[in-house]
Amino acid sequence: MDYLPIFMKIEQQHCLIVGGGAVAARKADLFIKSGAIVTVVAPELGNEMKFHLAQGKIIWHMNTFSTALVSELPRPSLVISATDDQDVNLAVYETYHAQSIPVNVADQTEYCDFILPAIVDRAPMTIAISTGGRSPVLARVMKARLETMIPHGFSVLTDLVGRYRQAVKNVISDIDGRKTFWETLLSGLFIDKAVHGNTGEAEALLEAELETIRTNGQSLPQGEVYIIGAGPGDPDLMTFKGLRLLQQADVILYDRLVAPEILEMGRREAERIYVGKKEKWHKIDQKDINQMLVDLARQGKRVARLKGGDPYIFGRGAEEVELLVQHDVPYQVVPGITAAAGCSVYADFPLTHRDYAQSVALITGHQQAGAQGIDYARLAQSGDTMVFYMGIKNAPKIQAGLIAHGLCPDTPAAIIENGTRLNQKVTVTSLSKLSETIQKQSIKPPALLVIGDVIKVRERLQKKSLLDDRVPA
Ligand code: SAH
Repeated sequence: MDYLPIFMKIEQQHCLIVGGGAVAARKADLFIKSGAIVTVVAPELGNEMKFHLAQGKIIWHMNTFSTALVSELPRPSLVISATDDQDVNLAVYETYHAQSIPVNVADQTEYCDFILPAIVDRAPMTIAISTGGRSPVLARVMKARLETMIPHGFSVLTDLVGRYRQAVKNVISDIDGRKTFWETLLSGLFIDKAVHGNTGEAEALLEAELETIRTNGQSLPQGEVYIIGAGPGDPDLMTFKGLRLLQQADVILYDRLVAPEILEMGRREAERIYVGKKEKWHKIDQKDINQMLVDLARQGKRVARLKGGDPYIFGRGAEEVELLVQHDVPYQVVPGITAAAGCSVYADFPLTHRDYAQSVALITGHQQAGAQGIDYARLAQSGDTMVFYMGIKNAPKIQAGLIAHGLCPDTPAAIIENGTRLNQKVTVTSLSKLSETIQKQSIKPPALLVIGDVIKVRERLQKKSLLDDRVPA
């Protein structure tokens, strides 16, 4: 490290800014936000600095800086020089550096005793980023990344946790016990409640936890389950929330459809359990998966259940949640981009369009035993864009059923195999040739069948799409 990262308390301390322009004003703003008494030395002020002055946030010495002026100024804790005049900047640096007062000359690392980081401000939580003065732009790029990753609610969360620090100390006397308490609390449901503004609920969770410890002493941490939609294939289509919860998990249960790249985003030490249902001879029953989630949570584990697409669209997520509810296991469900939404976009056509379709039907082509068959009569007359999940095997029946009930045999049909993945294959045909095309092209699951006039839009959108800029790993 070239610099020691520290957070300095400058509240009610004198800080000096030399220069009245825009850069100086931005630096002044940081001092002001940190509660310092800010003196600005400059012959004139730019608009931003005038604004600070008008707000009563700075004291202005209308003067060009010179060593003669120093005795008139309060002794500062920190100094920033941001003028266009290099002689002035140097004079500032030499004057204060000689007195062991840290100086920063804007944009000149060689005259900086300290540097100002790029900041992700979730005050009271503050993240400071530095490249050791090498590239402020790179620091800002990193800042932009972190800004998107860290919800604004972290401000509220940090405040809340701060308020309870002493209360927790009063209940749990040993340091290790407190550490376990906070670690457990801050990696579970509590953090999500607080971050999303449900402060009351978060506080209630914390209070309840403290109360349990008051009466029963500290026990095993309580497990939780996160049912996470992992999207249709392209790992970039995972949500931020899904990623955040995945990275908290001790155990990850995943399906065949979940991209390996997403699995890798979990913690390295997390246990990974495959619960896909591909092989007939190695079939894990849905009931067993449901029970596994309950059992793991009861062992105090945080369990991520990754499912392809969206957990509540042909995903049996609700069955898993039902058992969790029955057993009082805390859980969260994170929506994912369902195959219909992802695959149609990546295949360059919409699911609805003012001219072609006003509604969409998501249909399972694989009928569960005992379930009513597909209502072809209704579908054929509906004008819906029809999206069949798990429909490859039954394509001949789907085709015959729709045509028999009056859907035009020329209606466009698209077969999207491995949608949104690098090996995505899109075949456009017509309803009358659907099953023949599936045969000829030897289409394999996962594949989606889309039937409807919206597919006509594809020709107009396809040429300009940038989606193919993805490079195979
Ligand atoms: N919950 C999932 C659907 C699971 S059912 C979701 O919301 O997307 C599994 C079916 O989804 C597959 O048989 C296939 O029809 C469809 N599917 C899922 N991912 C797909 C992909 N990448 N490309 C094409 N079809 C996909």
